[in-house]
Amino acid sequence: MSDKTAILQALAQVQMPGGGTLAASGTLSDIIVHQGKAYFSISVAADQVANSEPLRKAAEEAAKAVPGIASALVTLTAEKAPSRAAPEPAKPAGPLGSGPMNPARLAVQGVKHIIAVASGKGGVGKSTTSCNLALAFAARGLKVGVLDADIYGPSMPKLFAIHGKPTLAGGRTLNPMQNYGVKVMSIGFLVDEEAAMIWRGPMVISAIQQMLREVAWGELDILVVDMPPGTGDAQLTMAQNVPLAGAVIVSTPQDLALIDARRGVAMFRKVEVPILGVIENMSYFIAPDTGKRYDIFGHGGAQAEAARQGVPFLGEIPLAMTIRERSDSGLPVVVTEPDGPHAAAYLAIADRVWGLLEGDAPRRSTPRIVFD
Ligand code: ADP
Repeated sequence: MSDKTAILQALAQVQMPGGGTLAASGTLSDIIVHQGKAYFSISVAADQVANSEPLRKAAEEAAKAVPGIASALVTLTAEKAPSRAAPEPAKPAGPLGSGPMNPARLAVQGVKHIIAVASGKGGVGKSTTSCNLALAFAARGLKVGVLDADIYGPSMPKLFAIHGKPTLAGGRTLNPMQNYGVKVMSIGFLVDEEAAMIWRGPMVISAIQQMLREVAWGELDILVVDMPPGTGDAQLTMAQNVPLAGAVIVSTPQDLALIDARRGVAMFRKVEVPILGVIENMSYFIAPDTGKRYDIFGHGGAQAEAARQGVPFLGEIPLAMTIRERSDSGLPVVVTEPDGPHAAAYLAIADRVWGLLEGDAPRRSTPRIVFD
């Protein structure tokens, strides 16, 4: 029996919420098995994505339980988008880095550019992208810092494999932690995760301001801010309170993630932060043995969305078990496989972002209002 058939048999044991089995539901993509790792997606109605997480997990577990399958990567694909709102028109373009007169937006001394890495929702790989992008800047010889502003789910301590607590540099100022040549500050170094979970808006903003201004960052070419996922009030306030040179939006190619990405673009436009561009993460899968490319996740959606929004498309990152495994063990691909294809994808995006910051300023093109 082929691995694929064995996995299908296992998925015949997974029940659909509305009855019937996953294998017979007609929602499965092609199943790809490579070197004991299985990859496939389940297509669900757009408004069922959040409810379908248990189904996704059950499918992953069932596939992993098949003899010879060491791991499985299953994603949800939204079948149909709910009603699409037209993108919000941007305010008239101003000079790069401008914004409402807000003292909290004052530059941070010694830090040349601050960029936000944001996503419309969680789980699209925003933190993984922030980490590898920061390492790609460092690989180009730039002085780099990462500010983990994902207060409710800080991932940088794990991604950078940094443990312990920052030391005092004097007064209230903390020394940033450091690994792989990048300076890192995260709420995860300072308080228990549970403590930060109950913080309300103003406390979150003040924690971010402290991590921005009361940390001895020194001279930095670029500070990458890993934003909390989503586009709620907290994110908006944060975008308003950090002197951002621009924002990068991470999305997966799937319909529903794209709607969230669109909200992300609208949010930064509202506070007049230039959009540096959109990155499509978990874009496609390449079977390393045959080199054959599989677009099982709806590849290309983010690029089309970027064009629709009139913002640059920065590039695509493949869905790769290596990226996930390396991230989970604090050995990000850009430092551990610097000559590999995944590092190359991050390096190309870093170069494009740096070009926009230093050279041709990100153009805030006139928004196109699209009704569909
Ligand atoms: P977010 O910050 O958007 O919540 P994370 O960066 O924590 O997302 O990523 C969510 C999960 O997806 C993690 O397990 C991560 O390792 C994995 N992941 C992210 N990008 C990729 C990729 N390109 N290929 C495979 N797995 C990925």
